[in-house]
Amino acid sequence: MKSVDSGSLLPRRGEGEDEGVSSRGHSPHPNPRPRWGEGGYGISELLTLLTKHLTSYSDAPHLDAERIVLHVLKKREPAYLLAHATDKLSDQQIQEVTAMANRRKTGMPLAYILGEVDFFGRTFIVTPDVLIPRPDTETLIEKAIEYIIRHAGLRPGIHEEITIADICTGSGIIVITLALELEKLMQLKANEAKSYRFIATDISPAAIAIAKQNAQNHGVADTIEFIEGDMLDPFDFAQGKPHKIDLIVSNPPYIQTSELDAIYSPQQPYLPHFNAKRWNVGLLFEPRIALDGGPDGQKFVNQIKTSGIPAIIETTGGAIITLVQPLPLK
Ligand code: GLN
Repeated sequence: MKSVDSGSLLPRRGEGEDEGVSSRGHSPHPNPRPRWGEGGYGISELLTLLTKHLTSYSDAPHLDAERIVLHVLKKREPAYLLAHATDKLSDQQIQEVTAMANRRKTGMPLAYILGEVDFFGRTFIVTPDVLIPRPDTETLIEKAIEYIIRHAGLRPGIHEEITIADICTGSGIIVITLALELEKLMQLKANEAKSYRFIATDISPAAIAIAKQNAQNHGVADTIEFIEGDMLDPFDFAQGKPHKIDLIVSNPPYIQTSELDAIYSPQQPYLPHFNAKRWNVGLLFEPRIALDGGPDGQKFVNQIKTSGIPAIIETTGGAIITLVQPLPLK
């Protein structure tokens, strides 16, 4: 992977903004721009420069610029940037912004640079050990909730526990969001609700650690059992079934191996300047194990399908969600 260069971002005092040079520039100019240690750049000026700078590398350069500056300022609301348009950033903050923008130029997804991502209205930690949540997965959550409500979850008079499993949990977004959303629904209809049990598996210990951290941050660490293991292996159905699973909700790896091979291929050299906007550049930074669905992309999807357990799974990434072994509608 390309190393992060510590190169230039902002114009040297007295030079055109297009040239972008290092923070150590000292050339004299009759009408000097602010310099490090001299009050620095104001927020709005910095945003303009950053946006311009990221235009060749991002589909949403202004949004990226805003997120980077907000992150460095430790603020969340974009309105803050408008309200403090002329506030100056410190040298240290400018350096942090520069380092992040330079990482973005390598094609690294913003979520990895910030170390977090928003999903279903909540913020989750992400690192290159886990897949970055896709917008389609929000639809998967909606479908799952709809299904659960329709079939079992909130019908009056039914009180037994139902167990929901998230297979290949990655950052844990699916199981954590379901735990929180179903808890909200149970509060609304407290006396009618069943109780839920959540289990999440992932083959990657690093992913399990991130998912646990996210569960803790969202106050559901005690509600979810995280198990390290491949797919459905941790549920040893054959031997005395330690786990009864009522529903699988999962976004398993589903990209064809050959498609990934093409992306990673040395014959297709990775040139950040030309490729940074291509849809697949971000994939290079994500764990291949979370993407590779085997020769036809269906290896893991089929494992779930043949398990005999009702499942709602994301199967193509194109917002196509498959409901397998559905229960009859009530
Ligand atoms: N469940 C996580 C997500 O949807 C991770 C999926 C995976 O690793 N394939 O983002």
